[in-house]
Amino acid sequence: SPFSVISPLKCAKVHRMQTQVEDSVKPIVDPHDIDSKLLQKLAYDALVWCSLNGLLVGDRNSKRSGTVPGVDMVHAPVALLPMSFPESHWKQSCEVAPIFNELVDRVSQDGEFLQQSLSRTKKADPFTSRLLEIHSKMLEINKIEEIRLGLHRSDYMLDEQTKLLLQIELNTISSSFSGLSCLVSELHRSLLQQYREDIALDPNRIPTNNAANQFAEALAKAWNEYGDPRAVILFVVQAEERNMYDQHWLSASLRERHQVTTIRKTLAEIDALGELQQDGTLVVDGQAVAVIYFRAGYAPSDYHSESEWRARLLMEQSRAVKCPSISYHLAGTKKIQQELAKPNVLERFLENKDDIAKLRKCFAGLWSLDESDTVKDAIERPGLYVMKPQREGGGNNIYGEDVKEALLKLQKEGTGSDAAYILMQRIFPNISHSILMREGIPHKEQTISELGVYGSYLRNKDEVLINEQAGYLMRTKVSSSNEGGVAAGFAVLDSIYLV
Ligand code: ADP
Ligand code: MG
Ligand code: MG
Repeated sequence: SPFSVISPLKCAKVHRMQTQVEDSVKPIVDPHDIDSKLLQKLAYDALVWCSLNGLLVGDRNSKRSGTVPGVDMVHAPVALLPMSFPESHWKQSCEVAPIFNELVDRVSQDGEFLQQSLSRTKKADPFTSRLLEIHSKMLEINKIEEIRLGLHRSDYMLDEQTKLLLQIELNTISSSFSGLSCLVSELHRSLLQQYREDIALDPNRIPTNNAANQFAEALAKAWNEYGDPRAVILFVVQAEERNMYDQHWLSASLRERHQVTTIRKTLAEIDALGELQQDGTLVVDGQAVAVIYFRAGYAPSDYHSESEWRARLLMEQSRAVKCPSISYHLAGTKKIQQELAKPNVLERFLENKDDIAKLRKCFAGLWSLDESDTVKDAIERPGLYVMKPQREGGGNNIYGEDVKEALLKLQKEGTGSDAAYILMQRIFPNISHSILMREGIPHKEQTISELGVYGSYLRNKDEVLINEQAGYLMRTKVSSSNEGGVAAGFAVLDSIYLV
């Protein structure tokens, strides 16, 4: 079958596999059969590598690790070896990255489309409603964003049955792990190099991953377009952030490669310390801000009070470059993803027929809950669907029998609260064998993976300065787990090995 190309890694000094776990997976050799002595060595060296190279997160068992850098750090959860991935699908995911960048930019300019598509959701979902309110205000004052910066991550799963690379979602705000993902690729390359006698894999088949530097470069170029050499880049962060090193990698790259200063502030701090000057310049804590990079503000829990919403509005009104602007943020919502998948909608935003076909090929089945035939089918066969609210950050979706229950409950209520959700075809990727490293311990697990491809986009008026694929992130999780967040504790960071 074509799926033999995704068979697990070939290892030289490991036992041949005796039994097959899944009919669909026909591994020649299996990482689970790496003998315990070699496994111990690999795991030890991986842990040392992570510690020496900053592939780190704050320890969740510590209170201070989310606020004070340099204390209570632990290696990021990682897979010990890269995951096999077909080269053709890798190329496909890289090829569509700039097209998705372009699409987000086009959609963001159609205020009418955003407001109209989200009008029912607005009534059912207070958070989306608040975002739309800010968006409306910007439309009213005819706010123009000349410099537009997008740092996106488009996530995919490879559907086993159809062999199609299907998009899970497109993140336009807080696309995380660009800082750490390139280190995972380096870790794996380093291990394959070191253990080339034991593991017959070519380190060069792990694609180059420059996510951190490419994101930093895009931020630096946006800063440069803004044109005030004394201005800083503002990272909007959560008060507690165990994934701070991922963010600090971008700051370090900005400082060392581009001589650009970054500051970190929470939404509440921005409300307290921020002001707009006459000309719209955002000043926070006495420093002019050229670029606002959001690593918070995507979830209702980031807005504890009106203070945070005031900060969001203040920033949106400013002339700083926003990554993302409110319209880029809204263009990345799940409802918009579903609207874009409807017939003839992509055609509204893109001219090139090949581009449209390439994007459409990645679209899974997506439905609104006012499509009664689909809702009926989802109640009958809930396992084939995922129900998604307008949320980010993992852990919010509904699966399996819960889909049926949730849909029946919504039908009974009949208050329009169904508009808070979309339905999506459930994607079933093939199951692999991996070794997942958590808190210093290797675990042999049956896993599924999700490939994220970063994209960076920068435009100033009519001139597109950057539009490219900007590295990748593989995430691998235990196959029995529905959700995929690394920060949420479901998945580990991984890289890919092209086959
Ligand atoms: P979030 O913005 O919270 O990350 P996602 O749409 O990415 O929301 O869903 C979270 C996780 O749920 C994904 O990482 C993936 O593991 C799983 N998931 C989402 N959509 C599907 C789907 N259609 N089929 C299978 N799994 C899915
Ligand atoms: Mg998301
Ligand atoms: Mg996601």
